[in-house]
Amino acid sequence: MNKYEQVDPELFAAIHDEVQRQEHTIELIASENIVSDAVRAAQGSVLTNKYAEGYPGHRYYGGCEYIDVAENLAIERAKKLFGAEFANVQPHSGSSANMAVYRAFLDDGDRVMGWSLQDGGHLTHGAKVSFSGQEYEFHEYGLDPETERLDYDQILAQAKKIQPKMIVTGASAYSREIDFAKFRDICDQVGAYLMVDMAHIAGLVAAGEHQSPVPYADVVTTTTHKTLRGPRGGLILAKKAYGKAINSAVFPGIQGGPLEHVIAAKAVCLKEAMQPEFKVYAQQIKKNAQAMADVFNASDQVRVISGGTDNHLMLLDVTKMGLYGRDVQDLLDEVHITLNKNTIPNEQNGPFKTSGVRVGTPAITTRGFKEAQARQVAELILAACAAKDDAAALVKIDQRVQELTAAFPIKG
Ligand code: PLP
Repeated sequence: MNKYEQVDPELFAAIHDEVQRQEHTIELIASENIVSDAVRAAQGSVLTNKYAEGYPGHRYYGGCEYIDVAENLAIERAKKLFGAEFANVQPHSGSSANMAVYRAFLDDGDRVMGWSLQDGGHLTHGAKVSFSGQEYEFHEYGLDPETERLDYDQILAQAKKIQPKMIVTGASAYSREIDFAKFRDICDQVGAYLMVDMAHIAGLVAAGEHQSPVPYADVVTTTTHKTLRGPRGGLILAKKAYGKAINSAVFPGIQGGPLEHVIAAKAVCLKEAMQPEFKVYAQQIKKNAQAMADVFNASDQVRVISGGTDNHLMLLDVTKMGLYGRDVQDLLDEVHITLNKNTIPNEQNGPFKTSGVRVGTPAITTRGFKEAQARQVAELILAACAAKDDAAALVKIDQRVQELTAAFPIKG
């Protein structure tokens, strides 16, 4: 028995069960991934013991000489990987990164344009239930209801009317490439800052598999735990001129002591993302998503929103089967396939039931799934939906899931 099991057997059991769940589940939540042993080792290191308010070379505590090395490694790697002039690696989360940026660039009540939550944006892009929608005057833009894609002419027309101080783009549930150059042009025409939240696609950007927002945006935020395959956390990249205001907004503006163990793990994931294998990984994420979309497109059970995917995820309209997204999420849980219900453009069933589900390939790709397995997973999803009242058929589908997960064990 190891010490940890002795100290807290109840917690040990919960974590043990979660290990088993991850091992035996096909994970399709588009915002999740499986980190390397090196990332976990850094995050589990003694750096968690250390207070280090401030920034490298300017701390409010003694004994920060090695912490400074670790944080500087993370900063320099973030700048190098994304070609940015400035990086702040301290935000505890993507939401904190966004809050800090708003505080650095905006005054309370300022007008901002953000991508609507229902059409794929994030809560922190101006939703009324979030600080963002409460502290600033956010106006939402959405997708074209016909193409289910961004309509840049429409966004420009809206921006000309609203005259925002900032436009925020980036999404949690959009399967198409975002044209940051076009957003830059729109911002230039109305004199707005461009903020890009690339949380979902950061790994694809790092690998050159999605246009980078860095040359176009005044400021870029991201999480480090999605396609970037790092620890849970946030990161801000910007032009050098904004660095001082961003640093002050993060600390002391909204945070106290940085999570240096997490920052160390960010440094590891940024190094991993610089390796040639990471480019192959990012390419495979996209190939797997396309393989799944092909299967869904060939079926009349579901409709792929916008007809396909350019990135790591797709949205499916599941209403043709007489199901809500929530039903599909619950049904797939029974056969150990995890995904999440999601609103779709022109949503008619509200955010709790939803008309759709979101399907993402970062985690299965980390496990080693290629197109053949991705196609099988899509077929299993369709088969489970068709067999929703057939307990024996669902058991068989679960067995297929177990065969697949056993063939591709999680490796660190
Ligand atoms: N931005 C986008 C686009 C996201 O999808 C998310 C999380 O899903 C966030 C920000 C927030 O990240 P966190 O959950 O770390 O606060």
